[in-house]
Order: sequence, then structure tokens, then C-alpha cells
Amino acid sequence: MAHLKSDEYGVGDAVLLDEITEDAFVANLKRRFSKDKIYTYIGEVLVSVNPYADLGLYKPELVETFRNRALYQNEPHIFALSEATYSTMRRTHQDCVVIISGESGAGKTEASKRVMEYIAAVNTSKGRAEIERVKEHLLASTPILEAFGNAKTNVNDNSSRFGKYMDIMFDFKAEPIGGHIKNYLLEKSRVVKHAAGERNFHFFYQLLTGAPDAVLSSLSLERNPSSYAYTNQVWLLCFSVCDKAGFDEVTTAMRTIGFDDAFIECVHKLVAAALHLGQVAFTPNGALCVCVSVSVSVSVCLSVCTTKDALLKALTTRVVAARGEVIETPLTAEKASKARHALAKSIYGRLFSHIVKNINTCIGVKADKHTALGVLDIYGFEIFPSNGFDQFCINYCNEKLQQVFIELVLKLEQDEYAREGIDWVNIEYFNNHEICVMIDDPKAGMIAVLDEQCAIAGGTDAAFLANLDRSFKSHARYSSFQTDSSDTSCERSRDFRIRHFAGDVVYTVDGFVEKNNDTLFHDLKRMLYNCDNAALKDMWPEGADPLTAVHKMPPTAATNFRTSMDELVVALKQKCPFYIRCIRPNRHKAAKKWEDDLCVHQVRYLGLMENLRVRRAGYCNRQPYEVFLERYKMCCKATWPHWHREPKDGVRKIIEELNLKDEVAFGNTQLFIKNPSTLQQLEDIRDAKI
Ligand code: ADP
Ligand code: MG
Repeated sequence: MAHLKSDEYGVGDAVLLDEITEDAFVANLKRRFSKDKIYTYIGEVLVSVNPYADLGLYKPELVETFRNRALYQNEPHIFALSEATYSTMRRTHQDCVVIISGESGAGKTEASKRVMEYIAAVNTSKGRAEIERVKEHLLASTPILEAFGNAKTNVNDNSSRFGKYMDIMFDFKAEPIGGHIKNYLLEKSRVVKHAAGERNFHFFYQLLTGAPDAVLSSLSLERNPSSYAYTNQVWLLCFSVCDKAGFDEVTTAMRTIGFDDAFIECVHKLVAAALHLGQVAFTPNGALCVCVSVSVSVSVCLSVCTTKDALLKALTTRVVAARGEVIETPLTAEKASKARHALAKSIYGRLFSHIVKNINTCIGVKADKHTALGVLDIYGFEIFPSNGFDQFCINYCNEKLQQVFIELVLKLEQDEYAREGIDWVNIEYFNNHEICVMIDDPKAGMIAVLDEQCAIAGGTDAAFLANLDRSFKSHARYSSFQTDSSDTSCERSRDFRIRHFAGDVVYTVDGFVEKNNDTLFHDLKRMLYNCDNAALKDMWPEGADPLTAVHKMPPTAATNFRTSMDELVVALKQKCPFYIRCIRPNRHKAAKKWEDDLCVHQVRYLGLMENLRVRRAGYCNRQPYEVFLERYKMCCKATWPHWHREPKDGVRKIIEELNLKDEVAFGNTQLFIKNPSTLQQLEDIRDAKI
């Protein structure tokens, strides 16, 4: 029970703190952090503080220290939590999931990788080729998805711009047989636009700096990211991300996982197509537009395998069907430019989903009898200087995950006391349910209000904001410049503010309607579908419909996202959950630096104190009677070496003999222990006997 003792490193499990106060809790985390102890438990929840430095904590040989050991037998560590998850799955044959949360830059993605690595490493299976192959494939998915779905932001040099839920599937021997990845809403607006100091998705730079000359020339690309509108930011040098080496790493991973050359080539072409689209210039000709950069467009054609004429026409005119007739309208330069950005985003977005689909084909499992161990690594809460539709979705997702945490950790824990017949005074906690409802109520929530604007011809962002004001002006969690002019955080008339569980965020309404509509003109879809490229046909099946087909409006981006969040929550609740709560210790990505205010804020909104109080107020530890009896039967003459009657009665004997009656409560199926010191005392007695 090494970590249960308090020493110069503080306590490894916060339930052992003498005082359960925020000050004591934060001081303990800080003290541990200063000694490079980045992990601390609250019971079985692992709190992790990002050290922004390699502390040598994940050496492969360490895996043996954790194999087949219970949480409390080692120092707090992510491997210990991974082992607990894996062994629970193995023992109970129940699906398990590690839910990783925390704001952007807190270390979620790194944590998810460590969990996967541990699970892979602990399954040696005596080097059996089949198992090794499965493990290799599963691990290869990470660099691929990071290259296409991660980017440098001002908070994190390798920020995930998509959500990811990955299941690893096991057979009855608990050996890995495959996996499945579900991706959530990629922030594809990043393809065409990013804030100062931020970058496009890594793969754009990897391709331009790392691809062999022959590949680049076949794509009509120059080796210089600053030549392209979508990658020419002056800050594109990003020291912690090595683009050139990244290209080779991703290529190797794509080969490992089983992508063939044709598909890899197709991926390159589509990324190049997006880059070329960024270069197309449209010049006004009266009210209409002329596309001037023909030579560049030619490259675009090559990349999307369509003819030059078809592409030029598709970019500069809109072809629509009205009352059974096909009408062609020339576009203005501004509209054509916008449509081109939409095309680039759409190509990249669908390419990303297509890559995930291909990964799933490669790692998929045919057997339907399996258990799954899931890892959820989804974008963390974000507050940027300017927040738009993407932040709105990302932050909504975090509200939903907080709900799951509240349900499963705060609520169920207290329900368990009731079920076990233990006296208990409920601990109050902040429930963010009202914020979720404000956003996602199917009839009256903000998403519904936005969808309404998207459904009408000529819907605008301004009208959306006016409707929000009308619907939520008296909601405690909403304000805007119009509803509350004393609210100085909403400086502009196009801002609204949501008081999220994790802090106030001001959103600028510009672009909400367009991003939510997320539609590409049908003639562009038809063009892509009719390209001489099987992958493109696969990505735009709806392009097969004739122009005159009657189209039902597809669900909006926000509605799709809400549906996928609902499904995610249902899926998570069916599994046995384990939690990692990540904390970002400073605003500067600086090694080992701790900023008090930032940490206190996260401790508060993550609900860690409530978590600790629930865990601690009554009982820091509970054990089924059989388990307790087995471990401590040598502490009592009556139960040693064998106890043949009810385990609960045996446990009673032990507790009576050791005079611990006031320190425990007898539940229906489990013994509840109040203080950690009792556990310590039991361990000491046990140590003395063996
Ligand atoms: P998030 O996914 O929560 O946004 P990341 O996992 O991408 O954050 O972490 C951001 C950066 O912090 C990483 O790129 C890495 O440099 C550093 N980092 C995170 N966790 C650790 C860790 N356990 N040890 C060392 N560095 C870490
Ligand atoms: Mg991440």
C-alpha cells in the first residue's frame, strides 16, 4: 500500500487528506507535481496534471510492475488504471471504457495513447504473430488520425480537432482481435481559415515538406508551404511538430495498417486538390465572375480527376433545377470564392471520414462474440479569443460528458449507499443539466433555434441571434449585448454568452447558419461523383442523384452532432467506466510550471471536490465480503485458515476481533470502510502476520 502513506510527496489518494478542503486538495496536487508525481487518485478516479516534459514515466519495462496488480498496490499511475480497466473487463466479461476529460492541452490525447500502449504491451501472448499483427494495426491508427485530424492551436501544438472513441475488441481469452473507431465532428473550417498563431491540419505541411520530389511533381505542388493560401501563415514553423519526419511516419503507418498504394495516392491527390483550390482566384467581371488562374485550375483538375472545363464551370456557375427545368446562373466573384472554400472543406472532411472508414475495414472484427475496452478522447473545453460554431459544438460535447460523470460518479455512488442500506446524507453538487437542455432541447434548445434559421430561405446569423435573445433572455446561463448591456464581455452586437459549467464563453454568431447548413451545392457533388475516381464516388454517393431529383433537406451539422452525442452517452452508460481527469497546469505549455489560479479553476469545474467529498464523507473504501475475507482472514483466529459460513459473518468476526466496529458499516453485499487509516491498520496487521 505504498502510496497510501503520507510523506514528502503528499498523499497518492486524496481521500487520505486530513482535511477535505479545496486548499488542501490543490496543495497536495501542487506538492506532488513539484516532485514530478503527476498522478493522484480520488478513489478510483485518476487525476493527471500535464508535466509538459518527459519524466520517463512510461518505459516499456514498467509494464511488469503493473501487470495483475490492483490499483492500490502501486503508486498512482496511468498504467495502474489501465490494468484496472483491463482486468475488470477480463474478470467480469463486461465492456469497459476509459473516459478522459479535461480542457484543451490538459493531456487527454497523450493519456489515451498511454492506455492503448499499456493494453498492447500487457498482452504479450508469447509473441503470437496474429496478436502482434492486431496490436500493430491498432497502434498504427493513431499517427494517421493525428496527421489528418490534429493541428497546432494557441493552446496545444498537437490539438485534436475531432473527437475519437476507440473500442479495442477482445476474445474470450482477453486477447485483442481488432478494434473500431468512431470519429466525431472534424473542425474542417480549419482547412481554409485559422486564427493568428494557429495552423492547418498537420498533414498539409507533412505532404509539402516530407513527400518525395516525384510525388510532389505528380501533384503539381511546390515544396514550400508558404506558396499556398491555406498553409502560408508566417508562424507555420512549429518546433514541436516535425512535419518532414511526420510524413514518413504517417506513410509507414498507412502501409502497416493495410492501405494500398492506390488509396495512399488518392489521399495525396485530395489533399493537393484542397491546396490548389485555395489558390484559385476569382476576378469580378461586372457582377459576374471570371476565374483567372486557369493553370492552377488545371492542377486542380488533375487532382480531382475531372476535366478542366467541367471544373471551371462548376466553380463559376450554379446549376439548379427549378420546376423540372435546369437553370444555369453565373456566380459573382465573392460567391464563387465562397463555394470554392466550401468545396475544399468538403473534400477534406469527407476524406477524413473515409480514412476512418478504411481504418475500420482494416482493424474490424468479424466475430460478434467479444468484449470491448473503449477509450474516449474527445476535444476538451475551449475558450478562444474568438469563438464560433466549432467551439459551440466542442463545448456542448464537454457539457454532455460532464453529465455522464455526474450521473456515474456523483449520483450512482450515492445511489449505491441507498441500495446497500447505508445511512447517508446526500452531498450537493452542481448539476449542469440545465445548460445541456438549453442547448439541445429538441424543440426549444439553441440547436433547434439555429436549425429553424437554416430551414428558411435567406436565414441569417443576425436573425438567429435575435431568436436566441427572445428564447433565452431570462435564462440564467445566457446573455447577450441586447439582453444585458451591462454585460461587458459581449462587446459586440453579434456576440452571445453561455455560462458553461467550465466557464463563460462569448460566441460570435458570424458563420453559424452557414456552418450548420454544411451543404455543398449539388452540382459540385455531381462533379465529384462523376470524377474518374472510385474513392470520390464512394465519398459522395448522393452525387449520383440527377439535378432534378427532389432532395429532402439533410440533417444540419449541429443536429447530426447532437444525435451522435446522444448515441455516445448511451454507449458510455452501458459500459463500466473508469475516469482520467486531466489538468492543464499553465497557460504557456511550459515544463513543470504550476499556475495556481488556472489549476484551482479546473479543480472546481471538473467537480473534483464534490467527487472527493462523496468518496470521502462516508466511506473511502468498499469491498465485497468475499474479497475482504480472503485478504484479511489471517487477522482473526475464527476465520483462519478457512471460514465455511456466510462471508459477511466471517467479516463480522474479523471486525469484532480487531475492535473496528465504529470504523465500518455493513452494507447488503459489501463492507464500507470510513477512514483510510483503518485500511492502513488492516494492512499493517496483515503484514505482521505473513
Ligand atoms: P489534449 O489532448 O488534452 O488537448 P495533449 O494530450 O495533446 O492534450 O497534450 C498536449 C501536450 O502536452 C502534448 O503534446 C505533450 O507535449 C504534453 N503532454 C501531455 N501529457 C503529457 C505527459 N503525461 N507527459 C509528458 N508530456 C505530456
Ligand atoms: Mg487531444
